[in-house]
Amino acid sequence: MESTMEVTIVGGGVMGMTCAWRLTQRGAKVMLLDQGSFGSGASSAALGALWPSAMPNPGPLQRIQRESLWQYPEFIRELSAAAGRAVGYLQQGKLEIIASEKQLEQHRREVEFANHHWPAMVGTEESKPAMEIVDRDDARKREPHAAVGDWGAVMCHRSAQVDVADLLAALRLACERAGVQMRAHCKVMEIALQSGRPRVMLEDGPIESDRLMVCAGIGVCGLSEKIQTLPPIKPVKGQALLMRSERPAVGRIVKNGAIFLVPWPDGRILVGSTTEPEAGFDTTNTTAGVDFLTRGAIETCPALAHARVESTWAGLRPTGPKRQPVMGPLPDLPSIFICAGHFKVGIGMAPKSAEIMTRWVLGGELTSDERQFAPGGMGYGGIKPAEIN
Ligand SMILES: Cc1cc2nc3c(=O)[nH]c(=O)nc-3n(C[C@H](O)[C@H](O)[C@H](O)COP(=O)(O)OP(=O)(O)OC[C@H]3O[C@@H](n4cnc5c(N)ncnc54)[C@H](O)[C@@H]3O)c2cc1C
Repeated sequence: MESTMEVTIVGGGVMGMTCAWRLTQRGAKVMLLDQGSFGSGASSAALGALWPSAMPNPGPLQRIQRESLWQYPEFIRELSAAAGRAVGYLQQGKLEIIASEKQLEQHRREVEFANHHWPAMVGTEESKPAMEIVDRDDARKREPHAAVGDWGAVMCHRSAQVDVADLLAALRLACERAGVQMRAHCKVMEIALQSGRPRVMLEDGPIESDRLMVCAGIGVCGLSEKIQTLPPIKPVKGQALLMRSERPAVGRIVKNGAIFLVPWPDGRILVGSTTEPEAGFDTTNTTAGVDFLTRGAIETCPALAHARVESTWAGLRPTGPKRQPVMGPLPDLPSIFICAGHFKVGIGMAPKSAEIMTRWVLGGELTSDERQFAPGGMGYGGIKPAEIN
C-alpha cells in the first residue's frame, strides 16, 4: 500500500500526528496543520492509562480498543526508534478496588471473559493470567498502601501506562524526521471543495490536496458551522492533577471508582479524573473538581494526604455520538475523512486508529468492525458540494 498522494491533516493531537506519521511512512505527502502547538489539545491533558475494556460480549469499540492496546509495545518500540528518543511505557498492570458484592460479580465475569478470549501475555511468567480477582490480603501484599476493603480487588495484568509528554514529543519528532510538513499556529477557518479537490482555508490563503483528514478534536465543532453534516464532536471536560509523594504510595495503576492513580518510578503520581459533560468548553480547575480528586486520592491511598500537589489542569475530551469515535470518509465526499471523538481512550486507541485511517485514505481492506465507525455507518449524511463551495 504505497502512495504518492497529497494529504492535508487538520489537527496535530495524538490522532493527527500518528496518522501523519503512518501515512508518510507509506509514501503519502502529508501537510499537518494545528491552530496551536502540536499536542496541545486534549492529548496534553491525558494521564496515559492504557487499560483494556474488560466488558464481556464486547462491541466493535471494545474489540478495536483492545487490539490497539495489544499493539502498544511494538508501537512504542517503533516510535522511539523513529524519533530517536525514549518513550516511558510500563506494563505493571492495574489494581482496581472492589466496593461491593455486585461489583465483585461483574468483575468475575470480566475475568472469565478476559482469560478465555484475550491473547496470552508475552514475556511474562506463563502462569500469569490476563486478569484475576485477589482477596484483601493478597491485594495488600501487592499494594500495601492502597485502601483495599473486604471485597478485595481485581488485577488486570494487561494494563499499561505511557508517559504522554514523551509520547507527544516523540510523535512530533517522528513526523519531522519522516518528512511531514508541519505548520503550527495555523488555524483552518473553513473546509471547501475546489473542482472536486478538498481545500482548507487559512488566514494566509488556501491549501489544496488529494485527500483531507479532520483530526481536530473538539475543533470539529467550529468547522461544522460550515459543514453542517460533519458528525457532532462534543467536549467532555476532565480535571486531573499531579502529586509527588515522599512517602511510599502505590506501585502500579490503582483504580477506585472514578478515581485512578498513575504512578511513575520518579515519584510522580497522576490523579484522574472528573467527567463533566455539562461544563461545555470551560477549562478551569474548580474547587469542587480539585477537592474530588484530592479526596479520592487520599481515600484510595491514605499516605497521599502528605503528598505535594504539583499541578492541576483540565482538558476537553473530544466525544463522538454515543461516546464512540468517528473514523472514515464523509458520505458523498469520499476525499474528506474524519478521525475524532475518542473520548477517554484516544491515547490508547491511536495506533489502531491511525492504521484504520491509513487504509481508508490510501485504499485498503477494512473489516466490518472498522467500517462501523465511518460517519455513514453511524447514520450521518453527506454534504452536498454546492453547500461548501
Ligand atoms: C483529563 C483527561 C484524562 C485523559 N486520560 C486518558 C488516558 O488516561 N488514556 C487515554 O487513552 N486517553 C485519555 N484521555 C483522552 C485523550 O486525551 C483523548 O481521547 C485524545 O487526546 C484525543 O486526541 P485528538 O488528537 O483526537 O484530539 P486533540 O488532542 O484535542 O487534538 C486536536 C488538535 O486539533 C487542533 N485544532 C482544532 N481545531 C483546529 C482548526 N480549526 N485548525 C487547526 N487545528 C485545529 C487542536 O489545536 C488540537 O491540537 C484523557 C483526556 C482528559 C481530558
